[in-house]
Amino acid sequence: MTDTIDTPEQFLLAQMTWPEAKAAVTRSPLAIVPTGACEQHGAHMSLDTDTVRAEGFSRRLAEELAPLAVVTPCLTPGVSSHHMAFAGTLAVSPLTFQQMLYEVVESLYAHGWRSVFIVNGHGGNMSACGVAASRLQADFPDLKIAWTGITSLVSDVALEHTVGPKAAHSSEIETSQTLYFAPSRVRSAVLDEARESGTTPERYPGVAGVSGIKAPRPFHKVSPDGATGTPSAATAELGEKLIETAVTRATAFLESFIADSAAAPA
Ligand SMILES: [Zn+2]
Repeated sequence: MTDTIDTPEQFLLAQMTWPEAKAAVTRSPLAIVPTGACEQHGAHMSLDTDTVRAEGFSRRLAEELAPLAVVTPCLTPGVSSHHMAFAGTLAVSPLTFQQMLYEVVESLYAHGWRSVFIVNGHGGNMSACGVAASRLQADFPDLKIAWTGITSLVSDVALEHTVGPKAAHSSEIETSQTLYFAPSRVRSAVLDEARESGTTPERYPGVAGVSGIKAPRPFHKVSPDGATGTPSAATAELGEKLIETAVTRATAFLESFIADSAAAPA
């Protein structure tokens, strides 16, 4: 989904000419900004997993809302310093990321967009998204801005289908979404091996969590192989259920978000 250069979609801002972009402001009053990462996702998924999910989800929203939304290029790399012990991870600081996001939305504002929805595919970006959104709302009072994660829209569905405790990064929940969007990014041989051996690497050594307390740690101290949960339980069908339910819920919100031209969201 993200590696095909010549797949023209009417809603992709970067594939428009400037006169087309100028016309899009009126036809498509909502700008969707995906934010991703280039970071380890266990031994079984590619580094661009969060980017694939953010872009894929943003495109599904634009399809549902057509012609009301455009999708900007995905912002990446993300805030991933906690994954730097794993090869290939690229990281920018939270300060850099929120500033980049702020300035991209500022650019959209300069061209006339007044409704912006950030689709964040990477948990590590969340604080930076919140800071950027707060700054934008303060600096541009007539800008409507909202942001969301993907799995957080369907945490109830995810919980229902979680195999073991603590299914988060690169778990069966995230792996299922990637199988749905871009199966080539998942190394099924690695998952098959885990299934056949029936073993799950020991995870979460050390500190026991207490609900409500945030204690950030480098990810190799959370999980030696970089994944959580039971990735071998992932299926494309579960991915479809998670993503399409999230699309339905986000679309319902965005329809009123776009229509409400007078009031900024709380
Ligand atoms: Zn991820």
